[in-house]
Amino acid sequence: MTARIIDGKALAEQVRGEIATRAAALAARGEQPCLAVLLIGADPASAVYVRNKVAGCEKAGIRSLRFDYSADVAPEEVMAKLAELNADPAVHGILVQLPLPPQFDEAAVLEAISVEKDVDGFHAENVGRLSQNQEAFIPCTPHGVMKMLESTGVPLAGAEAVVIGRSNIVGKPMAMLLTNAGATVTVCHSKTRDLAFHTRRADILVAAVGKPRFVTGDMIKPGAVVIDVGINRLTEGPDAGKLCGDVDFDSAAQVAGAITPVPGGVGPMTITMLLENTVISAERAARRKGL
Ligand code: NDP
Repeated sequence: MTARIIDGKALAEQVRGEIATRAAALAARGEQPCLAVLLIGADPASAVYVRNKVAGCEKAGIRSLRFDYSADVAPEEVMAKLAELNADPAVHGILVQLPLPPQFDEAAVLEAISVEKDVDGFHAENVGRLSQNQEAFIPCTPHGVMKMLESTGVPLAGAEAVVIGRSNIVGKPMAMLLTNAGATVTVCHSKTRDLAFHTRRADILVAAVGKPRFVTGDMIKPGAVVIDVGINRLTEGPDAGKLCGDVDFDSAAQVAGAITPVPGGVGPMTITMLLENTVISAERAARRKGL
């Protein structure tokens, strides 16, 4: 069997077209969507993510503001900027690129972002709302995964779903979204005994581990939908320097029914969902102003 490829790039382009139309309609009503991005320190991967987010905004007709700080910036300076952006009616989304340098209390920074502008969906109130299946800003990566699953037409209600990873930004919200959609969800992590026992039962398998080619074909149920969230840069072997996922694509594609590639899978959808959340926030602001 050879799996169908779930083309995240194509799906992202389609959704971004719809977002650009909504952004243009807002701008015409005098409410141009605007995202503020804060980058602290010089982590090269973070710099690439921020650059891609800003470029994505530009293409979709979303204004972006970028604030760069050195790694040794005082947390008070960043907190003051967040307060200023919270109060600015022209700003609809605020994002602080993670990870943060050690002098920062990450939870305190995320809590300092206004819930209404928390387009990453990491504020504890948004997390709580998501867990209660209430309207919330949904974290972008798992939200993108849900859109990709929907695009496959695979039934989620009643499906056995296994998520490998329990991080706050991917694994846990992913499990909540799948639960809300009616799947029976198992969350695996580094303490899980016999990981393959769980993964082999999965109709839907989401890998968010951060380990290159960790999930192999023998761990996958024939016909399963496999979503590879991982972005890893290989440091050795013939593919050194290349990006790869948490799934060993070649062996997995022999067994799975459908699979996302890396790159070109979950990555493009993540930024797309960020743009969508910014537009949603701007639409709410326009409604509040009666525009
Ligand atoms: P974290 O490092 O925060 O979480 C990794 C998770 O994997 C942890 O829960 C950890 O368990 C679990 N894990 C580690 N080793 C094992 C193991 N041997 N068996 C089972 N579980 C294990 O990573 P993130 O969630 O932030 O990211 C995961 C991956 O997704 C990374 O490659 C990252 O680069 C990528 N990513 C991609 C995005 C995209 O846009 N496509 C966006 C965000 C992330 P424990 O909790 O016990 O330590």
